[in-house]
Amino acid sequence: MTPVLIDGKEVAASVRARLSGEIEELKKQGKTPGLAVVLVGEDPASQVYVASKVKACAELGLYSQKWALPADTTQQELVELIHKLNADDRIHGILVQSPPPPHIDEEAVILNIDPRKDVDGFHPANVAKLVLEDESGFVPCTPMGCMELLKAYGIETAGKHAVVIGRSMIVGKPMANLLVAKNANATVTIAHSRTQNLPELCRSADIIVAAVGRPEMVTADYVKEGAVVLDVGINRIADASRPRGYRIVGDVNFEAVKEKCSYITPVPGGVGPMTISMLMANTVKACRQQLV
Ligand code: NAD
Repeated sequence: MTPVLIDGKEVAASVRARLSGEIEELKKQGKTPGLAVVLVGEDPASQVYVASKVKACAELGLYSQKWALPADTTQQELVELIHKLNADDRIHGILVQSPPPPHIDEEAVILNIDPRKDVDGFHPANVAKLVLEDESGFVPCTPMGCMELLKAYGIETAGKHAVVIGRSMIVGKPMANLLVAKNANATVTIAHSRTQNLPELCRSADIIVAAVGRPEMVTADYVKEGAVVLDVGINRIADASRPRGYRIVGDVNFEAVKEKCSYITPVPGGVGPMTISMLMANTVKACRQQLV
């Protein structure tokens, strides 16, 4: 079977084009959506993510603030900054880049973000809204991006069996919630590190979402003929032939799996590009909601 390659770059670009129009409308009303990105410490991957978020804001004409705090910033100092940003009218979305240094209690920090500005969708008030299917809430960007990809390619979810591998609060659980919601109507199984007979379980799936963090774990043996496979994984593996000495692979063994499925996301270029576009979408939504 020759699968359709799901082009995340293209879908992300069309989301941004749609957002540009909305941003123009907001600007006409005297409001520019604003995002504050807070980074604590010097984790190289986090620095790259933060830079791309700020760049995306600039490209779309959003206002942004980047707060790069030293690694020894205290919990109290970070919380004080969050409170300041909660009160800043120019800022509609606040994001604290994960993971913070180990002395920071990330969950406690998130509790201090005004839920109306929680564009990552991690605050318990937004988690509850997702479960309640209250669309005024914010949904974590990566699973939201996966749903957007399914929609863009007209992939039916109603009545389909979706297996989500991974139960994190960032990807797995919100992904499962989105798929089971009444506007998607999938039958959902969440698999995790203690799940038994995972390949067999996955073979009963019409849709597999892999969000594990294990390079190329999902092999052809996991996939039934014609299934849709979304690969959320971003893993570095050593590769001496590359200038950097590594390459990025997903949680799915792309070459083996692509022979069996109907649609598949490549890594890179599949789910990855959607995440930042969804962050932009959440920031625009936050601005619109804070207008009223
Ligand atoms: P996590 O470590 O928080 O969660 C991993 C999940 O996988 C856990 O729930 C665990 O139970 C499950 N798991 C671990 N080993 C397993 C096994 N052998 N069988 C079945 N399940 C197993 O990770 P996360 O934050 O959800 O991220 C998952 C992957 O997605 C990572 O590769 C991460 O880099 C990537 N990611 C990508 C984006 C993006 O923008 N594309 C965003 C977030 C995360």
